[in-house]
Amino acid sequence: MIIQAAPSSQAATADFLPYGRQTITEADIAAVEAVLRSPFLTQGPAVPAFEKAVAAKVGAAYGVATNSATSALHIACLALGLGPGDRLWTSPITFVASANCGRYCGAAVDFVDIEPTTGLMSVTSLEQKLQQAERSGTLPKVVVPVHLAGSSCNMAAIGALAERYDFAVLEDASHAIGGRYRGEPVGNCRHSAITVFSFHPVKIITTGEGGLATTNDPQLAQSMAELRSHGIVRDPERFERPAAGPWVYEQQQLGFNYRMTDLQAALGLSQLERLEATVEERNRLLQTYRELLAELPVQLLDVPKDVLSSVHLAVIRMDRASPTQHRQIFESLRNSNIGVQLHYSPVHLHPYYRTLGFMEKTYPEAEMYATSALSLPLFPGLKKSESTNVAETLHFLIKDYA
Ligand SMILES: *Cc1c(COP(=O)(O)O)cnc(C)c1O
Repeated sequence: MIIQAAPSSQAATADFLPYGRQTITEADIAAVEAVLRSPFLTQGPAVPAFEKAVAAKVGAAYGVATNSATSALHIACLALGLGPGDRLWTSPITFVASANCGRYCGAAVDFVDIEPTTGLMSVTSLEQKLQQAERSGTLPKVVVPVHLAGSSCNMAAIGALAERYDFAVLEDASHAIGGRYRGEPVGNCRHSAITVFSFHPVKIITTGEGGLATTNDPQLAQSMAELRSHGIVRDPERFERPAAGPWVYEQQQLGFNYRMTDLQAALGLSQLERLEATVEERNRLLQTYRELLAELPVQLLDVPKDVLSSVHLAVIRMDRASPTQHRQIFESLRNSNIGVQLHYSPVHLHPYYRTLGFMEKTYPEAEMYATSALSLPLFPGLKKSESTNVAETLHFLIKDYA
């Protein structure tokens, strides 16, 4: 594989093409404006309406909206009882928040290597690690499978292991709202305790910043709803002290202000109406890349057979490129104004996790992924001419397929 410099004319003329970008319609703007003209900017009717709508859409009993997926992951871990002395396991190929939520709770974090073709947590590695952990008495309390790029992990297998080894499953579905697993929506928690979605602008639908946890367990839902708002309880029936008056609330545990605003929820409700259409368009755009890249020595991540991906990302792997060539191709694409990105640099190799003792050569598949993967621009509204230009630039950069 030989790498050439991209033609400089492209860098000079083309606009920068980001890897992801939000879509905002006039209807979205009108929905937010209506809240601005209403009495409630926060703690009004839009947040519970958004929670109900998302829960109904994904087939879960409860939804708890937060100001980010990171905070939803944090209060999900707390609701599951994660604390000092416990362990949380996740994938090394994820955004750092999937692991940090364990650290916020004082738990130890560990990782399960990925399956190279999908980038998802390997069930084989998980099972092997669980067998070892059972022998050494170091089983996890919470496992966080990450639905990378919008493809659900093998949740039936992970759910079966959860029963066998007695851990809670917390799905990080930040990429995967609108996706399906075995015909059912991601987020229905059939094989998990809690699922978390992100509504950051690069994700499938957005609220500016925002997250939401779904669950079918009324206790977990109540616990997360209280932790989101300072640990405060307003229902007099649940007070631990006799109520001194109708104005009284009780703080029963240490919570946070992780609330979503009504402005955000109104935007989310409006965006949610386009969810199916958005996921269809993202799948069409991925198919276009599949066709455009068919002749190149690169592989798009596989989507498992029983999964409908929401296609958050179009990740290619260039397994025949050396790490140096991978880097050169990455830089040349950027120099051509093509906003490729790496999702993700392995979490365990960040300086913070190295201070906890993690080292290189611990998760070989994840580390190989990081020197061969890159995400191509994909978002609703991406033009055929733009994806064609991405493919042609890649073609130009990667010569000699021997
Ligand atoms: C974006 C993302 C998060 C965090 O989402 P925020 O809403 O930005 O806090 C967590 N996990 C994964 C896999 C993500 O991609």
